[in-house]
Amino acid sequence: MAKIHFLDLTFAELREILLSWGEPKFRAGQVWRWVYHNQIFDPAEMSNLPKELRQRLAQEFQFSLLRPLERIASQDGLTEKVLFETEDAQTVEAVLMRYRERNSVCISSQIGCPIGCPFCATGQSGFVRNLSAGEIAAQVLYFSQILRGERKRVTHVVLMGMGEPLLNFDAVWQAILSLNDPRGFGLGARHFTISTAGVIPGIERLAGEDLEVGLAVSLHAPDDALRDVLVPINKRYPLKDLMTAVRAYIERRGRRVTFEYALIAGVNDAEAQAQQTADLLRGLLCHVNLIPLNPTAGSSWRPSPVEKVRKFQEILEENGVRTTVRLRRGIDIQAGCGQLRHKHLLKEN
Ligand code: SF4
Repeated sequence: MAKIHFLDLTFAELREILLSWGEPKFRAGQVWRWVYHNQIFDPAEMSNLPKELRQRLAQEFQFSLLRPLERIASQDGLTEKVLFETEDAQTVEAVLMRYRERNSVCISSQIGCPIGCPFCATGQSGFVRNLSAGEIAAQVLYFSQILRGERKRVTHVVLMGMGEPLLNFDAVWQAILSLNDPRGFGLGARHFTISTAGVIPGIERLAGEDLEVGLAVSLHAPDDALRDVLVPINKRYPLKDLMTAVRAYIERRGRRVTFEYALIAGVNDAEAQAQQTADLLRGLLCHVNLIPLNPTAGSSWRPSPVEKVRKFQEILEENGVRTTVRLRRGIDIQAGCGQLRHKHLLKEN
């Protein structure tokens, strides 16, 4: 009989199962706490549970969903990337970034990605499948276990790894709810950020959800012609409609939205494009992250030179648009989305 994937269960589902086994009501809270708070995945170690229950949990539940295949750290040791293997022998990546008091985990929501951005290794490898809620949460719990050994904890979770999270909304949302639940992991809603290529129905749904998580939108171009190429889902959800949805989101939530802009030399980094971007975003409660492109093997596109990045930033700031230039941390460990998996796939073929 196939085992039940523990991390795919909601708290209510776990309680139902344990009640059906004749366990008292409070048992679900104890088991949940062992996994999400203490990050103990072996029932034998769940010391406050009766022995028979520990045995039954081990028989019927599977607690770990991802197996780390490869773990590499940047030279300064602050960034770590892990390639996980799923039960069906697929691979998925996640990254831990330590920065002062922040320990951010960048996780994946899908295996591959259907959006197909031409500058992204994941986009180029095609789409395989959605990750389950448990596979999404497992990435965070893995790094949380590592940080526990350093007496630290995960402070931020960013859904900016492989895949488009708003095309796998249900699983992403369930994972966030599980990790937010104060009975276990207890990470505050504002410490999650969902990064989208611009899936409008997902943005609209997010605006109506109870939890206030952060929203980041990958902009990368200020006009439809170029954005159709760089972020192909723009053909389905063009800029004008996207901006209407983002504006509605900001009005409803009263929260700042982040725009990501990967600067590619000679493609989207001209002064005129900076001005167009400023015109598009002027007056909006937003922040722009300017990120010199993480170069991908096999692509001729290169990151914009520093002086171009500075000029682009200057133009936005002059127009009242707040910006940050994001350092390409972890470049020596191929921290760009999908690069480690891409290397692994090449090795297999
Ligand atoms: S950049 Fe993001 S949305 Fe685009 S293909 Fe890569 S993973 Fe998908």
